[in-house]
Amino acid sequence: MMFDPMSWVRDDLKNARGYHVLDSPEGTIKLDAMENPFGLPDSVQASLAEAVATLPLNRYPDPQTKDLRREVSRLTGVRPEKLIFGNGSDEILLNLFLATKGTVVTPEPTFSMYRIIAGSIQRTFKGFPLRADFSFDPERLPSVLSGEPPGVLVLASPNNPTGLAYPLKTIFRAAEIAREYGFVTLLDEAYYPFHGESALSAAQGENLLVLRTFSKMGLAGLRLGFLVAPEPVIQLLDVLRLPYNMDSLTQRAAVLLMKEVYPLLEQQVREICRLREDLFQKMQDIPGVFPVPSRANFILFRVKGVSPSRLFKILLEKGILVRDVSGHHPLLEGTLRVTVGTSEENECFLKALKEGVAG
Ligand code: PMP
Repeated sequence: MMFDPMSWVRDDLKNARGYHVLDSPEGTIKLDAMENPFGLPDSVQASLAEAVATLPLNRYPDPQTKDLRREVSRLTGVRPEKLIFGNGSDEILLNLFLATKGTVVTPEPTFSMYRIIAGSIQRTFKGFPLRADFSFDPERLPSVLSGEPPGVLVLASPNNPTGLAYPLKTIFRAAEIAREYGFVTLLDEAYYPFHGESALSAAQGENLLVLRTFSKMGLAGLRLGFLVAPEPVIQLLDVLRLPYNMDSLTQRAAVLLMKEVYPLLEQQVREICRLREDLFQKMQDIPGVFPVPSRANFILFRVKGVSPSRLFKILLEKGILVRDVSGHHPLLEGTLRVTVGTSEENECFLKALKEGVAG
């Protein structure tokens, strides 16, 4: 018999694709990953270096993440017992999906990791389409949820890659319907800083869990996400959490940054929102470009007269990396997504975009 060195691998993984991140050559204007373009001042970088220099790296990190918990509790007003941390919010998604025995349901297009993570653990996944204008109708849920074993309804608001935020009323209605079918609702508020409206106060109830990340407001490299949930859910997720998932460097750096630079990050977020509106107006003025109003730090736009893949290549040749999302879902046909950059980066992008769609 022929020896198959991969005979032990799950068949469904053999042709699976993970989350695809493009490499960006040095000097590229990186507008593909919803990062904050401003970075931290040198003085903060220096205090960070000093703060981590004295860490005893021969010891395991604090398993209870006490200092971090205290700081995030102070910033959010959420009781420390209702928080759990993850190595990026992705890790929390994985643990939450692992905890369910039913279907993971989400309106699409949305963040592709929901589908990818569910697939990676062979959790049943069911996507259903948003309306053509990317709004979400909770009254569709009964037909989507009925007959499905109770699991998690995932909603991202503001949503990625559409940039739309759903009204809180819509979110609460969805959670109410989900509850009738035995589902818990996970509200992913990754882009909350750029929207400003949160369901967090309502998350004190037991059927709406709120996921947040520090990535988008300026600390993507730290890999720090957290979930706000009722204590029984936190205790359950603690069973699944790998020991010491938050390393000492992240814990120490995050505490220092939250104490010392949070107001600066908030100021940067306000500037990004101002730049977003400016970018939106200017994109709207370009013939053949149709941006979607956004409540996040990126803008989805449809192009006419040039294919998204061709435009993506033209932009890349001009040193600008955006994301071609046109193949991710039928509703995204003809679209690309651009992250809001600095004013200079946005101007370069606009110039290249104008030339790209003009052909
Ligand atoms: N949720 C949404 C909606 C996102 O767009 C992203 C990142 N693209 C994440 C979660 C993951 O963020 P993190 O960096 O915390 O893993």
